[in-house]
Amino acid sequence: MTRIIKCNKIFDGENFIVQNAVCIANNKVIDVLLITDDHENNYEGIEKYSGILVPGFVNAHCHLELSYLHNEFVSGGGMVEFLKQMLKKRKVEKNEIIYSSAHEWDKKMRDNGIVAVGDIVNTLDTLDIKKKSDIEYINFVEVFGLNRWRADKIFEASVKIFETFIANELCANIVPHSPYSLSERLWDDYLSFENKQRTNISSFHFMESKSEMELIQNGRSEISRYFIQDLALSVEDYQHIPEKFDFYLKRYLGKEEKIILVHNTYLNDEYFNSIAAFVDKIYFCFCPNANLFIENRLPNIEFIRKMSDKICIGTDSLASNHNLCIVDEINVLLKHFDMDLDEVLRWATSNGANALGVKDRYGYIQQGYSLPLNLIEMEGGLIKNFRVIK
Ligand SMILES: [Zn+2]
Repeated sequence: MTRIIKCNKIFDGENFIVQNAVCIANNKVIDVLLITDDHENNYEGIEKYSGILVPGFVNAHCHLELSYLHNEFVSGGGMVEFLKQMLKKRKVEKNEIIYSSAHEWDKKMRDNGIVAVGDIVNTLDTLDIKKKSDIEYINFVEVFGLNRWRADKIFEASVKIFETFIANELCANIVPHSPYSLSERLWDDYLSFENKQRTNISSFHFMESKSEMELIQNGRSEISRYFIQDLALSVEDYQHIPEKFDFYLKRYLGKEEKIILVHNTYLNDEYFNSIAAFVDKIYFCFCPNANLFIENRLPNIEFIRKMSDKICIGTDSLASNHNLCIVDEINVLLKHFDMDLDEVLRWATSNGANALGVKDRYGYIQQGYSLPLNLIEMEGGLIKNFRVIK
């Protein structure tokens, strides 16, 4: 059945456009139209809404498999406190609870108007959900581990997960977790991994916390003390960290075609120089609610948007967020930064779709693009209501 949706304004993924209506059928946009009040009678059964029609949202960074940790973590304690809680709570639940929570939140993300997700995986817990989901997932099989003697085993396990995703016709790649959580051996395993079936997109938690920054600058911080004292990791693994960071970061950025750097909470002038040569292939992903949850701090967005317009938005996991909802993330950005609505909508739609390599079907309102679309209503400079048009 063909439907015509008329609204106050349309944001097409890039800009506000003059047209104010879409014709939709068979789960696709068939046409984008300008229908003035005088000409409404020329169309039968127009559905009229107040608000702005925008593309389906793209969540560029999530961990669906951690959805069972919703409301389990105490906020505001910083990264080490967060890691401690993660170590204590992860995998204590039964598999059915892990599965049912992920299933529930896959549906909730769809209800929140999300069409595509860049999702970090460490397990196969979400595989069956993703095979049937209405959301398109780009899966990033994450490797981490500081014990160099276990590196090959860790990497082999990740390759198995990656191969299972590929065998199930799901899009996947193997990605490193962060600058501070891989042994040299594991970095080498990752850097030498080549597979034609992997996507050309990578994802990396980057400059997320104060203790990560101190580690990179001074070679030691609360994180390294925690790993060495509480997790009995070798002191040798924490030698020459600043040099190793630079060495592996450059190789990583050189290897991948497109990289989503996630968080960037502490990214500043000095460290921007170390990635500047690669900036054309980098998407900077902000997860503002997760940053507020863990460290009560937001990235220097003013600085980063001067350096790049390749910015996208993620929710991170429910261990550090209360919802998997891009509208909530947009509202935090609008509340804290002086920015125009079209800029942040671009981050939440077309930029995310470009980052995840799905721009031929999502991120825009154009003929042939897939539904759902979202209708947002503004009040006091924030998104007050939204509904999903499917
Ligand atoms: Zn994350």
